Amino acid sequence: MTLSAITERLRAAELRAGRAPGSVTLIAVSKVQPPEKVEAVLSEGQRVFGENRVQEAQGRWPPFQDRFPGVSLHLIGPLQTNKARAAMGLFDAIHSVDRLKLADTLARLADDLGRCPDLFVQVNTGAEPQKAGALPDEAEALVTRVRDLGLPLAGLMCIPPADQDPAPHFRLLAALAARNGLEGLSMGMSDDFETAVALGATHVRVGSAIFGSRAG
Ligand SMILES: *Cc1c(COP(=O)(O)O)cnc(C)c1O
Repeated sequence: MTLSAITERLRAAELRAGRAPGSVTLIAVSKVQPPEKVEAVLSEGQRVFGENRVQEAQGRWPPFQDRFPGVSLHLIGPLQTNKARAAMGLFDAIHSVDRLKLADTLARLADDLGRCPDLFVQVNTGAEPQKAGALPDEAEALVTRVRDLGLPLAGLMCIPPADQDPAPHFRLLAALAARNGLEGLSMGMSDDFETAVALGATHVRVGSAIFGSRAG
């Protein structure tokens, strides 16, 4: 697969779902990929990228950002509070707000820095013990806290369990978002982004289908 093939599939999925072409943001997940592949995708015109580790992103992105204006970086991996300041300096969006304490830390830093990335509350829709995210019945309290703190809340994010049909998880996330008056839905990866678009995704996070497998 290549960027253009994925972009075409995304357009087709938007049309099938009766969504405006280009209304779903494609986040190219570049974590662990070699810099030459990232550069190739930048050269094809992609400007929105996802990384799951603050440190890795800090090392690789500033030089790319100098050469390719308009890059927007999204943090899609768990965020430790001691990396929050660095994350807020680098990222335009954080998809992994998963606990009250992190929301409080982000609010303090936003005060300090005078800016804050767009935030998504991550929901552990499958209630998997090893996975980050607020449990579905804790999500509302976290959404309320983020709002009360005056932070820019864009929506909700989920990563469905790897061994299950993702559709019920996407539906649950969409229902939670609707109930809380939230527009943003960060859901769908290489294997299921078309399903996610059909169920209302506004942001899809696609890695291996664009860059190839991360194994080697
Ligand atoms: C790695 C990752 C992706 C991309 O996964 P692919 O299957 O390679 O498309 C999406 N979202 C998150 C949170 C990830 O960590």
